[in-house]
Parts: sequence; C-alpha cells; structure tokens
Amino acid sequence: METVGYAAFSASSDLKPYHFKRRVLRDNDVAIEILYSGICHSDLHTVKGDWGQQPYPLVPGHEIIGQVISVGKNVQKYKVGDKVAVGCMVDSCQCCDQCKQGEEQYCRNGLTLTYGAPDRITGEITQGGYAKHIVVREEFVLKVPSQLDLSRAAPILCAGITTFSPLKKWNVKKGTKVGVIGFGGLGHMAVKLAVAMEAEVTVITRSNSKQDVAKKLGAKDVLVTADMDAMEKSVAKFDLIIDTIPVKHDLNVYLPLLDIDGTLVIVGQLGAMDELNTSPLIMGRRRIAGSLIGGIKETQEVLDFCAKHNIYPECKLITPQEINDSYHHLEKGDVAYRFVIDMSKMSI
Ligand code: NDP
Repeated sequence: METVGYAAFSASSDLKPYHFKRRVLRDNDVAIEILYSGICHSDLHTVKGDWGQQPYPLVPGHEIIGQVISVGKNVQKYKVGDKVAVGCMVDSCQCCDQCKQGEEQYCRNGLTLTYGAPDRITGEITQGGYAKHIVVREEFVLKVPSQLDLSRAAPILCAGITTFSPLKKWNVKKGTKVGVIGFGGLGHMAVKLAVAMEAEVTVITRSNSKQDVAKKLGAKDVLVTADMDAMEKSVAKFDLIIDTIPVKHDLNVYLPLLDIDGTLVIVGQLGAMDELNTSPLIMGRRRIAGSLIGGIKETQEVLDFCAKHNIYPECKLITPQEINDSYHHLEKGDVAYRFVIDMSKMSI
C-alpha cells in the first residue's frame, strides 16, 4: 500500500513529507487509516539519536488513532470501519512468560517497537504514526471505546499507559500521596489518572507558570523546585513519585521527598543519571524503580478507564507542517499538554 508521512532524514534536519509503502496484508494483519497521531518526547529523542544511531528515513509516532480499512483473512476481532488504536509496540514473540502474562513490553525475545525496529518476519524497518496508514498484526491493535472523542484520545496510547501502569503497579488508591515530576505530556496524564484513582496529587515542576493549569487538572498542590523552603517542608511527603524528566538529572533533589518505604519510578530519562547519594535510600528504605509503557491488556484497560472516567489528554491539534515547531516546544519543555497531528490535513 502506498502511503505518505512525515519522516526524519537525519538527526539534525527537519522532518519532511515522505512517500513509502506499507507491507502487503498478512493473514493476521489489520490495515488502518490514521486519523490522529500524538507527538511524544520519545519521538524527539529517537529522531535526534539520543538513544543511538537510527535507520533514517524514519517516520516517528506511537500514539495512533484510526479506522480499519481492511483486514487479513484470519483476523477475528476487527472489521472494516472499526475505530482502533495502536501504541508503542507492534509485535513481540507471543510465547515467552512475559508475553503470555500480557506484559509484551518486557518480551524476553525483544518487543518490536512501532517505528525504527526490524519487522520480525521480513526485517524491514517499522515506520510509525505520522502517516496516513499503518498495517499492524491484530494482537497489537486496540479497540477505541465508542464514547471516546477520537480527536482527543491519541496520547492515551503512550502518555496514558506509561503513567497508568506504575500507578496501578504501586497500588495507588484513595489517599495515596503521589508526586509527579515534570508537567508535560506524560506528567499531565499522570495527574489526571492519579486524581481519578482518588490519590492526593502534587505536581513537582521547574515552571512557576504551570501552577494554575496543574491545579485545574486536579492537582492538590504544586511544588516548584526552586522554592527551597517549600521543598524542605515536603520532605517525606510522598508514597510514590513518578519522574517524567526527559534528560539526565539529579535524583538527590527528589529522593528525600519520599516517605519511608516510598518509591520513585523513573519513566523519563533513559540512560545515565547524575551521581546518586544512597543516604535517603538507606535511611528511609526508599526505592528507585523504572517502568516501560504497559502491556496490550493494560493499554486496553487505560483506554476503557479514560472512557469510563471521561479523562482526556489536553491535546493541541496541529497540521503535519507544524511538527517541527512542536519539537522545538518539547525541547524547551514549555508545554503542559500533547501536540496531536490531525492526519486529515496531510495530502497524499
Ligand atoms: P514533555 O517534553 O512533554 O514533558 C517533560 C517535562 O519534563 C517538561 O514539560 C518539563 O516539565 C520537565 N523537564 C523538561 N526538561 C527538564 C529539565 N532539563 N530538567 C527538569 N525538568 C525538565 O515529555 P513527555 O512527557 O512526552 O516525555 C517525558 C519523558 O518520558 C521522555 O524522556 C520520554 O522519552 C519518556 N517516555 C518514557 C516512556 C516509558 O515507557 N518509560 C514512554 C514514553 C515517554 P516542568 O516544566 O513541569 O518542569
């Protein structure tokens, strides 16, 4: 299938229109016309080569909402016209213990990412959601609940599941004291989801200017990291902290904010961190953990949870021509929402 998207051609040039082919439908494949595609900071990391050399041209995008336009002959769950979604993974071995328990993101044999990864059968490089179409095997396609507004749902597929998964894993419930570091795409979803779980949520931010919107989204408190007095008063305040900062940073600033037995879950920076002082860990049995997106079952769960609780990411709809500008904003970290590409504005 011929299609068109926006691709990166190098680590430093702007993304540009790119005509390419999607694979011929396999028997278990679903072909999707993409309607909306969210822009995650991971797209920017990948394109810039922060996580290693990339196979350019590369079409990013792993927050995909669309409709089914055809299905392979063995597809059971989907039919033409269904509203569907695709997140950060498009394949896994499907036979290891992790895949069998619905945690395909930790597949022992390696998950296949939605873009920039070799296809398990042909080895061709997967291309993501900044495009008019995508072809994905049935097991990695999700159902969009009928009541969800399609134009506002895409970021649930990454920002939503990446924050939902640790909130669930660490049993967040009524009264749990949750801190969210970094109030951007992931951070603002963490706030909305934790508030829906009836947690007491505090946004921990560099940005004075984000205070009002954090409160509007349900945060009980906002802690500005430059306010040393407020930071001091918040020592031992949190049961769980979700850290979404996208770059190397100093965890020693945040660890004392955890209560005894509290956990700080890193979902942002992938790679080196500043030197760690273990005193707050040892003196308070505090923990540092990491978490990667979530499995397919849990991704369906967060879509259904958002539909049930009427939770939407804050989306700013843009045209494909505005992708490069949105990357500049992500680099500055000055947005408390998600950019979402309206793919109807992409001409073939
Ligand atoms: P955004 O750019 O939308 O938000 C990140 C926020 O972090 C900013 O808004 C800012 O918030 C804060 N921030 C930015 N730069 C700095 C800095 N230098 N020091 C301190 N704080 C900073 O990014 P996303 O939310 O889309 O993604 C966040 C990270 O999560 C990325 O690294 C991304 O790759 C990763 N990610 C991880 C996944 C996983 O499975 N673990 C899945 C998806 C994404 P403020 O102004 O409030 O301080």
